[in-house]
Amino acid sequence: ASADIGVYGLGVMGANLARNLARNGYRVAVTNRSAARTEKLVAAHGDGSEGVFVPAADIDRFVASLERPRVAIIMVLAGAATDEVMEQLAARMEPGDIIVDCGNSLFTDTIRREAWARARGLHFVGAGVSGGEEGALWGPSIMPGGTPESYDRLGPMFEKISAHYQGQPCCAHIGADGAGHFVKMVHNGIEYADMQVIAEAYDLLRHGLDAAPATLADVFASWNEGELDSYLIEITAEVLRQVDAPTGTPLVDLIVDRASQKGTGKWTVQTALDLAVPVTGIGEATFARGASSGVRQREAARALDGHAGGFGIDSSDPGARDAFIEDVRQALYASKIVAYSQGFDMIAEGAAAHGWDIDKGGLASIWRAGCIIRAAFLDDITRAYAARPDLPLLLAAEPFATRIQQAVPSLRRVVALAAVAGVPVPVFASSLSYFDTIRSPRLPAALIQGQRDFFGSHTYHRIDRPGTFHTLWAQEGRPEEQWG
Ligand code: NDP
Repeated sequence: ASADIGVYGLGVMGANLARNLARNGYRVAVTNRSAARTEKLVAAHGDGSEGVFVPAADIDRFVASLERPRVAIIMVLAGAATDEVMEQLAARMEPGDIIVDCGNSLFTDTIRREAWARARGLHFVGAGVSGGEEGALWGPSIMPGGTPESYDRLGPMFEKISAHYQGQPCCAHIGADGAGHFVKMVHNGIEYADMQVIAEAYDLLRHGLDAAPATLADVFASWNEGELDSYLIEITAEVLRQVDAPTGTPLVDLIVDRASQKGTGKWTVQTALDLAVPVTGIGEATFARGASSGVRQREAARALDGHAGGFGIDSSDPGARDAFIEDVRQALYASKIVAYSQGFDMIAEGAAAHGWDIDKGGLASIWRAGCIIRAAFLDDITRAYAARPDLPLLLAAEPFATRIQQAVPSLRRVVALAAVAGVPVPVFASSLSYFDTIRSPRLPAALIQGQRDFFGSHTYHRIDRPGTFHTLWAQEGRPEEQWG
């Protein structure tokens, strides 16, 4: 035995995670289903300058090279491949050893795998890893689930290789079994919403001001100096500034306007439906990607007249122009608060449903560096939960309560303008509706309960009396019946 930790699966993420571990002083056993990737990694980085790799030609030698208690990371295509590799590793491991799945696995698979491994005396840790290939190499945000004992062994290594924010590691034990993959899934869902609100802001500015992408790159770059300071705003400015050299055209105008997805947004929405948590920002963002890719439907609808009006902004008037840009910035910020508030609601509900004790402020703090949604904003979330760990609603807590109330007039103007101008703003519009829904003292849900009782005897509660009621609707004059 000569390795502190092993990485099985040397694709883009696995190879970079292995190099990160080696650079940080750990002896890393490496192997891959097809030997070529192992050989490639060792040929490119195995000269000792990046630390110590212990290449293994097969899984027997891989497991044999790990010091006890063994720690083996799986970094393969999520799904059946993870099960296959886990079973092969488990067959060669001993009680107390730790198998870590750093892939993007569905948290319910992780719950199942953890129970399977536990029955064999093994620890199984599902760890969410965010930050893409650069993050894996230089410091990702890491969200491990599993037992506290497994974290005692893993934590020091993961905290060392993770990103750091003002000296603090962006890694913390999230909770038992699938908790790490659950929060990573919601993180990705929030990422979908964050990207969509930025895209909606861009689209409005582009049409409303008739502005070139390079001009808007400057707008986003300036936003990145303030409260919207984040990785996604930063890269938006870079994407908008990019010019296709051969044609001299802004690259964004040459990219096909169909957004792809790998499925974590979909998982978030499916899970949110199971938990009955409205994540409208994430939902609309996921559906917007689907709508953009609906080639047949878009083709069929292309000729329809939307009777859209103009924006009515005199873009030659600097005052009007700046006021519109500021309205859009505020609308973006308000929608972002809604999306994060909903995401953290989902984490609270998921934790309650699965018995995880998730420190939400701590979670926000490990998203402050390394991951795709890293943003100044997360500092405020950390502080809000530090002040009150059982916050019922993030957007109603300071500083968000003050900020969303300041921003909402802009959000209303922007959504109204977008509606008149015929520019789709699914997340802006749904965020405003959500805000108006939850702050409303009385909702038309009362009517829905009446309808349900009418056609299905589903009963209702009254505001003036306790009990469960059913009305004999069709028979006028009959006294209501009380049930229960
Ligand atoms: P790659 O496509 O680069 O590599 C896939 C790896 O999976 C290869 O090593 C491949 O082995 C292995 N593999 C596939 N099927 C099997 C199998 N049946 N048995 C054994 N090994 C198998 O993927 P990535 O590195 O991008 O992704 C790995 C994991 O990390 C995924 O779960 C992904 O969702 C997750 N992830 C990816 C991020 C990213 O930005 N790319 C970010 C965060 C997480 P072989 O070489 O033999 O084909």
